[in-house]
Amino acid sequence: SIAYLNGEYLPLEDARISPLDRGFLFGDGIYEVVPSYGGKLVGFGPHIDRMREGLALVEIDLPWDHDQWRQVCEQLMIKNGNGNLGIYLHVSRGADTKRFHAYPEGVAPTVFAFAFDIAPAPVADKSKAKAYKVSTTEDLRWRRCHIKSTALLGNVMHYQQGHAAGNNETILYNSQGEVTEASACNVFMVKNGEVITPPLDHQLLPGITRLILLDVLQKYTQIPVHERTITLEELNSADEVWITSSSKEIAPVTSIDGKPVGNGDIGDVWLAAQTVFEKHRFDY
Ligand code: PLP
Repeated sequence: SIAYLNGEYLPLEDARISPLDRGFLFGDGIYEVVPSYGGKLVGFGPHIDRMREGLALVEIDLPWDHDQWRQVCEQLMIKNGNGNLGIYLHVSRGADTKRFHAYPEGVAPTVFAFAFDIAPAPVADKSKAKAYKVSTTEDLRWRRCHIKSTALLGNVMHYQQGHAAGNNETILYNSQGEVTEASACNVFMVKNGEVITPPLDHQLLPGITRLILLDVLQKYTQIPVHERTITLEELNSADEVWITSSSKEIAPVTSIDGKPVGNGDIGDVWLAAQTVFEKHRFDY
């Protein structure tokens, strides 16, 4: 596939960075994954907003506007065949001449992007949807989970816990027993017909799928939506649980730590939510 590195398009296998790149040595960088289907991006504007906010928070100085990012995304879609593609965007603090923790002066950030194949856009059909099984565990990552950092070891270790137990994700809760998010997804639950998701703070990533889902539910349905704390206990007695991310959209969870969610089947509120998401995904 064709990638982008520091101003140049080239075959991915020819892309080279320095081992002194701070992305490599420290995980010192910010990234995004923007899904696209048939040459159309989902959530491009909010994805770039989030990346620019992340770069500002960690003081990586890259003055790219939305148009510059759009051009890279569009070129990568075209050069890679306009199929179902995840567009990965990555900015690290760049390659210093030494290994030293302090932010270096006068080092240009490394900008890397590539496209990878993703599954076709999810469809609102219970018989075709993948039912997710998840583990739960206490969140042992850092306290800046609102930053989409390339330093993902904490997330990777939590994902692996669920994977090793034969599950597809790991839902995380804090020391208070409050659900925050999953290792690579946000979390929603349905109780008595209401959709509930934890409020945004430093304990979770402000997911773009979360943002779009809340917006379409509020604009185009009568389903009540609340952003409020969810305890692990409530999650375990929910009627439906969903996990959301750019590549999965709204994924129904039917098993938590080996116990069925609700009656163990994919729910009707999921069907309504994925239906409205599907109708409006290219509006964002
Ligand atoms: N939470 C974490 C930790 C993630 O890594 C991701 C994205 O992969 C999400 C939530 C979902 O975010 P988005 O909907 O923007 O993909």
